[in-house]
Amino acid sequence: MNRTPIGSLKDHLDEVVILQGWLQILRDQKKMQFLILRDRTGMVQVANYRPANPELGDLISTLGTESALTVTGKVVKNDVVKLGGLEIQLQDLKVENNAEAPLPFDPFDDENLPAIDFRMDWRYLDLRRKQNLMLFRAQTLLEHAMREYWLQECFIEIHSPKMMGTPSESGAELFEVDYFGGKAYLAQSPQFYKQMAMAAGFERVFEVGPVFRADPSFTSRHMTEFTGLDMEMSWIETHEDVVAFTERWLQYAYKRVKEQMGDEIKETFGVDIVVPEVPFPCMTMTEVYAILKQAGYQLPPERKGDLDPGGERAIADHVKQKTGSDFLFIIDWPIAVRPFYHMRHPDKPELTRSFDLIAGGLEIATGAQREHRYEILKKQALEKGLGLENIKFYLDFFRYGCPPHGGFGMGLSRLVMVLLDIKNIRESVYLFRGPNRLNP
Ligand code: ATP
Repeated sequence: MNRTPIGSLKDHLDEVVILQGWLQILRDQKKMQFLILRDRTGMVQVANYRPANPELGDLISTLGTESALTVTGKVVKNDVVKLGGLEIQLQDLKVENNAEAPLPFDPFDDENLPAIDFRMDWRYLDLRRKQNLMLFRAQTLLEHAMREYWLQECFIEIHSPKMMGTPSESGAELFEVDYFGGKAYLAQSPQFYKQMAMAAGFERVFEVGPVFRADPSFTSRHMTEFTGLDMEMSWIETHEDVVAFTERWLQYAYKRVKEQMGDEIKETFGVDIVVPEVPFPCMTMTEVYAILKQAGYQLPPERKGDLDPGGERAIADHVKQKTGSDFLFIIDWPIAVRPFYHMRHPDKPELTRSFDLIAGGLEIATGAQREHRYEILKKQALEKGLGLENIKFYLDFFRYGCPPHGGFGMGLSRLVMVLLDIKNIRESVYLFRGPNRLNP
């Protein structure tokens, strides 16, 4: 006999079924024993009349909550039972894995959940919470929708290596690993290799994969390893072509999540998913500075030319008030705060053809048109103090016919934070990696 999902029990009245799940609650009385069994699809009450089944009764009395069980029983109607007006009359019970007592914490006691750091020690128990199951279903759907859109638009998926001989971004934040007595680096982005696909004539590529940053900070939005959503497209005219693609792609993904999971997300997270209208609001960095100045927002001096998290929130609030939009593109960043491979404006050489996407006050993506002209690229690399010999393999991509191109990199868990209004990235990632966290 096959396992029956708890969510479909109403179609099996008066039948004997096999259920498999976790013992969420046990009410162990003298004569009657009630077990609330949970699987991914729902919960049901299982009843055992002890005098009729004394052996099963003794076994039940040994069970800890959250034990993994296989239950055989008859589905009967019982109007006084809250869980769907159904009950299972127990016939057989197999304990697959008894749970020790007490649990490190009760994942279902919403009022008394321990702090996130403790829950991360027991992440698999934390993930048993309904919110978490839903979060990862929503993330799966979001990624699926993104892939759908990419495929509709003729993108090719690549898997670039995560061990590199040369850093792809700044030298800081770099993890070094021993490589047969030499040195290798963990990829800080697939930047160089997705650009190689442009030189290879793939024209449009995407990658969903791990990104490593040796960032020692403890913030609610940084991890030392995260999943990057990256794409690159050829034959663009400016970075604004990438902006236009990005907003349509995100709009499509939001629409699919809302259609399929909007109601349950609202019920569980209290979040009404709003499918963003395109075009998203868009401002130049110069305009952003003028607005922040007028609003009296002081950027820390070390952030000259850049934005700090407070500045991101302040400008996002301003835009939300003026336009109602949760999204904002900030374009044309100064060269000082952008990498050497960003193309510069021909008429304003101190500015790059680049953008950041801010969502819900948080930076979720960075993109740009890339410099594809060999001589100019070399000059820009030298200006940034890079040794050309170290990036020779990369510069070579631009020697034998490389089309104009651009793309973006986005953090998946940051987007999930914004989608479900989660305040800490530790709650929106399957397993967090930070300076103090390598286990589990
Ligand atoms: P930040 O300024 O927030 O540190 P960044 O400018 O270093 O981010 P990029 O190098 O532009 O970020 O990376 C592209 C995207 O990757 C970011 O917009 C963000 O969504 C995500 N991202 C970057 N660093 C991290 C990190 N440490 N943890 C999680 N996501 C990150």
